[in-house]
Amino acid sequence: HASEQKPGSLMIRLTEIRLPLDHHPDALAAEIIRRLGIPAEDLLDHAVFRRGYDARRRGAIVLVYTVDCTLRDEEGVLARLAGDRHVGVAPDTTYRVPVEDGARLAAAATYRRPIVIGAGPCGLLAGLLLAQMGLRPLMLERGKSVRERTVDTFALWRRSVLTPESNVQFGEGGAGTFSDGKLYSQVSDPRHYGRKVLTEFVRAGAPKEILYLSKPHIGTFRLVSMVEHIRAEIEALGGEYRFGARVEDILLAPGARRVSGVSLAGGEVVQADHVVLAVGHSARDTFAMLHGRDVAMEAKPFSIGVRIEHPQSVIDAARFGTHAGNPLLGAADYRLVHHASNGRAVYSFCMCPGGTVVAATSEEGRVVTNGMSQYSRAERNANAGIVVGVTPDPDYPDGPLAGIAFQRHWERQAYLAGGGGYRAPAQRVGDFLAGRPSTHLGAVEPSYRPGVTPTDLAACLPDFAVQAMREALADFGRQLAGFDMEDAVMTGVETRTSSPLRIPRGPDGQSVNTAGLYPAGEGAGYAGGILSAAIDGIRVAEAVALDLAGRPVDG
Ligand code: FAD
Repeated sequence: HASEQKPGSLMIRLTEIRLPLDHHPDALAAEIIRRLGIPAEDLLDHAVFRRGYDARRRGAIVLVYTVDCTLRDEEGVLARLAGDRHVGVAPDTTYRVPVEDGARLAAAATYRRPIVIGAGPCGLLAGLLLAQMGLRPLMLERGKSVRERTVDTFALWRRSVLTPESNVQFGEGGAGTFSDGKLYSQVSDPRHYGRKVLTEFVRAGAPKEILYLSKPHIGTFRLVSMVEHIRAEIEALGGEYRFGARVEDILLAPGARRVSGVSLAGGEVVQADHVVLAVGHSARDTFAMLHGRDVAMEAKPFSIGVRIEHPQSVIDAARFGTHAGNPLLGAADYRLVHHASNGRAVYSFCMCPGGTVVAATSEEGRVVTNGMSQYSRAERNANAGIVVGVTPDPDYPDGPLAGIAFQRHWERQAYLAGGGGYRAPAQRVGDFLAGRPSTHLGAVEPSYRPGVTPTDLAACLPDFAVQAMREALADFGRQLAGFDMEDAVMTGVETRTSSPLRIPRGPDGQSVNTAGLYPAGEGAGYAGGILSAAIDGIRVAEAVALDLAGRPVDG
């Protein structure tokens, strides 16, 4: 069972327990006893905190466990094994809200409840935390509720009909809803907020294994009902949701750089002193509005490239050899990096084992790719972004919004190269490497809907990116056998890898020049991915609550 610490109890954490893939269930306890040098009866309980695998040697893949143990004599073991860096006290990861008397604050006649703009992972966790603290947030989401949104998203994939306010990027659940639902992140998380996020996701219906697998994923299907579950809890705690509520402007208090509310498309004004801005990386109109209101922002690096697809069986064989297909390993993933001779970094991004490539534009006349999968990861192809880093200097030097113009330009080229109707341009790897357009595709059938047009992807990517990717593909083929196979297919373009700008905030969570505005999540440049966006949602919810309570944020 997954590790759950009881408050106040001392548990011993043991890391790097390596066992063969096919080990007997009892082998774990036996290994704990051996490593700790204790009699069997002194191990009172143990639970897996994390399970991953080490596949560096394909012929000898091992499972790697971190376990939390309750022992008869924890102190004695700790003293005896003080020099063993794999033995220590399990940190207490229990989450405690910083503000306990939120309901009392919210009962005051003068109370103005906080607004959360955007119901993606960041906004959802910010809203949930505010609601759990009794602060009754108002959630404003430009898109539709998740079920209605699913219908609109499928309309693009099946019938080439884009709804600009309801699609893969916009609507309840945010950008990560139609995704692989990968839930790992490399952000530093000293307060264990990630654990709080995963615990809330499990309460909302995610499989319990996400608490201990080293690389958990949920898949699209479950994400939809989880998002509804979180909405139900926020509402039950006194929060409120408004869909189709696009924030079109922020209001500033007269003569001050302090937020006093927002206005919605249609003109309605909502007063507030605390506005969480969790709008994601695709809210281009909102960024332009904020720039027009002189909210501090700056262009930041992101990446551009394509989605590549291989048969999942090729990736499984390259990574797992004879262990391919083992259910404990699942469909294989990969992570690849190449530093090209022109100075650009090329890397794999958002790899989706056994998934599909999806049409992810939110703007008319543009094509954007991304990837998703179901929990089973059972589709025939593996896909991942193969992307090249770009930076404001030299790639888009003209101010905070220039990265958006850069994205739009290449998304438009991709639309044109695809021949319209949201078909995407595609090319065989063999043709891309040889510098000739594809006239047909080969054994790997692209999964992008509403369909692809074989062509030359060099027409919709900057030259430096094409050069760097050619070099990288050959190198990736050496790292992972078959990666540069002639018939692997690339579909373009991938431009929404992260936000093209950052909206800086101070240690109190507020915009550096606009008090009361809390830029958060991926759109503001504080997260990349579902888990880190959700963690950031907790951070800003705490900052808002502390401000409401008149207490400083303690860093
Ligand atoms: P978002 O999720 O983008 O949410 C922002 C919300 O704000 C949206 O719902 C939007 O409609 C709303 N909004 C925007 N402007 C306004 C406005 N003016 N007024 C009101 N509402 C507004 N990450 C992973 O970690 N794992 C994955 O497997 C993964 N797969 C992905 C697959 C796809 C197809 C896509 C598109 C993304 C994927 N990602 C994945 C990335 C992940 O989805 C994002 O990192 C994450 O959703 C960012 O969260 P966020 O809350 O900051 O922003």
